[in-house]
Amino acid sequence: MAHRVQLEILVAIKTGIQAFLHPSVSLSQASLIDIFLYKRCRNIACGSALPSEDCTCELCSKRNGFCNLCMCTICNKFDFEVNTCRWIGCDLCSHWTHTDCAIRNGQIGMGPYVKNGSSSAEMLFRCRACNRTSELVGWVKDVFQHCAPSWDRDALIRELDFVSRIFRGSEDPRGRKLFWKCEELIEKLKSGVSEPLACKVILMFFQELETDALKNQESEEAGRTISPQEAFNKISDVVQEAVKKMEIVADEKMRMVKKARLAVEACDQELKDKAREVAALKMERQRKKIQIDELESIVRLKQAEADMFELKANEARREAERLQRIALAKTEKSEEDYASRYLKQRLHEAEAEKQYLFEKIKLQESLRPTQSNAGTNDPSQTMYDKIQDLLKNM
Ligand SMILES: [Zn+2]
Ligand SMILES: [Zn+2]
Ligand SMILES: [Zn+2]
Ligand SMILES: [Zn+2]
Repeated sequence: MAHRVQLEILVAIKTGIQAFLHPSVSLSQASLIDIFLYKRCRNIACGSALPSEDCTCELCSKRNGFCNLCMCTICNKFDFEVNTCRWIGCDLCSHWTHTDCAIRNGQIGMGPYVKNGSSSAEMLFRCRACNRTSELVGWVKDVFQHCAPSWDRDALIRELDFVSRIFRGSEDPRGRKLFWKCEELIEKLKSGVSEPLACKVILMFFQELETDALKNQESEEAGRTISPQEAFNKISDVVQEAVKKMEIVADEKMRMVKKARLAVEACDQELKDKAREVAALKMERQRKKIQIDELESIVRLKQAEADMFELKANEARREAERLQRIALAKTEKSEEDYASRYLKQRLHEAEAEKQYLFEKIKLQESLRPTQSNAGTNDPSQTMYDKIQDLLKNM
C-alpha cells in the first residue's frame, strides 16, 4: 500500500488539483485511491461515487472521472457557482453544461419544441449527455424568479448578459423580445437604474411572456371544448397572474408617486429660493435707484450752483464794466476840471498882472507931469501906451 503523502501527490498530479496537498484537506486513504481510480468525483466538495446517480449515459459510462452532479458535459470542469444562468441544466437527464461552453460548442440554437401537443420553433439547448433538447425561456425565467432578488448590480448585469447571449440568435418573437429586453436593461443598469427596479421589470416581462403564451394556447384551443374544472383552473391562473402583476404595478406606482412627491418638494424649495433671490434683487434695485436719485439731486444742486456762479460772474463782469466806464468818465471829467481850473487860474493870474500893470501905469502917470509937457517923443512912453491899449482891449 502506497504511503499517504505519495498518494496525495499522485492524486494531485492526476487531477491537476493542488488542494489535495493542502494540510487542511484530509481525505481517507480509500477515498484518495477511489479518486485516483476514477471511482469517486475529484471535486472535494462533491465527492460522490462515480458514476453519480448510477447514470448509464454515454458520458457517465465512458468519460473517466466525469461526475454528472458537478461537472460540465463539455469542458469536464466544475466550479462553485450556484443560482446563476452560468450553468444550463438538462430538463431530461439533469446533467449540467456551462452556458459559455454550450454557446461556443453550438449546443444552443433554433429548433422545434413540442409542448401540450402543439409544436413551435424556439431557442433550445441540446444536451451533450442525452442528446435531447430542453427549452430555455422557462429555465431562464425560473432562475430569475428564484435568484434575481438576491443578486447585486454586477450579478444582475452578468446574468442579463448570459440571457442576452443565449437568445441573440433567436428567430421566434418571444426569444427576440427577451434578447432586446436584456440589452435594454443592461444599458439602463449601466446608466444608473436601480437593481430592484430592473429586477421587477424583468420579472414582469417574464410574466407577460407567459401570459402571451397562454393566450396563444387558448386561441388554439378555442375550437375544443373544455371541462368546467379546466376552465375554472385557467380562470384562477389568469386571475392570480393578474393580481401578481397588479401588485408589482402598484408597488411601482407607489414608488413613482413617492418620487414625484419628492420632486414636487424639491421644486417648491427651489421656488422659495428663487423668490428670496428676487426679493433681494428688488431691494438691491431699490437701493440703486435711491442712490441714483441722490446723485441726480446732487448733480442738480451743482448745476444750480454753477448757474448761480455764472449769474454772479456775469453780474460782476457787468459791474466791472460799469465801474470801468465810470472810472473812464471820471478821469475825463477830472481832466476837464483840471483844465478849466488851470485856465481860471491863468485868467486870475493874467487879470492880476493886468491889474498890476494898470496900477503901475496909473502910478507912472501920476509921476509924469513934468515930462508930458515936454512933448518929447519918449520911446518908453510909446511902448507904455501901446500896452495900455492892449490891456484895454483884452
Ligand atoms: Zn450521465
Ligand atoms: Zn461531482
Ligand atoms: Zn464547461
Ligand atoms: Zn441530458
